[in-house]
Amino acid sequence: MTAIPIITIDELIARYDALLLDAYGVLVHRDGPLPGAVELVAALNRLGKPYFLLTNTAARLPEHAAERYRSFGLDFDPGQILTSGSLIAPYFAAHGLVGRRVAVLGPEDSVRYVERAGGRVVPAREDFEVLLVGDQVGFPFLETVDTALSRLIARLDRDEPVTLILPNPDLIYPKARGFGITSGAVALMIEAVLKQRYPDRPDLGFVRLGKPEPGLFEEAVRRARTRRLVMIGDQIETDIRGANGVGIDSALVAGGVAGAGFATGASAARPTYLLASIAPGR
Ligand SMILES: [Mg+2]
Repeated sequence: MTAIPIITIDELIARYDALLLDAYGVLVHRDGPLPGAVELVAALNRLGKPYFLLTNTAARLPEHAAERYRSFGLDFDPGQILTSGSLIAPYFAAHGLVGRRVAVLGPEDSVRYVERAGGRVVPAREDFEVLLVGDQVGFPFLETVDTALSRLIARLDRDEPVTLILPNPDLIYPKARGFGITSGAVALMIEAVLKQRYPDRPDLGFVRLGKPEPGLFEEAVRRARTRRLVMIGDQIETDIRGANGVGIDSALVAGGVAGAGFATGASAARPTYLLASIAPGR
């Protein structure tokens, strides 16, 4: 297998009309900015270079994410922040889910996304037609998962339809030290239970909205009004696979979630470039 070329952020800025940036593992970790992030965002703003944040979070509305990033020294406009949560409304509209009873696992903003999409949010202990796993925090974890699972099983045992939605399919995210599980891991757990209990129902799975699905990339193309885009990410399975899927070039940054697997060809999805640092001028 041929080696993947190494590129600098300055070359990417020069070569592409607009940059698509992943948030966690590229610009930020849970508690602050990553090295080079403040300099990169300042440089892009100074140059007037178009860029968008493509983040799988459904735990913060774009305006709240912008506030949080600003507190990290990263100055984005909410209109530059494309979240998996913002794909909920178009999905609800396209699949006749407006007005349905929705149990939401996630914090306040996950609930807001569903309300903005026209869903009728109900507690997990009540009968629901849609289960949306918005995030892994913002609720008493085990108690809520158990309650939602019980309701889900009761409904399926009665042979009533249910829609399962997972805006953020990420399994893990980086913390200042180590990693944490993400909503995708919670959904896998529920799917494993359903698979065992209903072996004849292969349809019982979560609909995934965020990267690597095409939705966020397509929205970025719409907003940037160009296809000469490069996706800069730290995860092969979401950022790189997703960009490949829609024919957008990609750069994998070192030190994120991907680990060293890409170098040995362990993953089927290959980035266009490897990026050692997001700091400009290096
Ligand atoms: Mg990431």
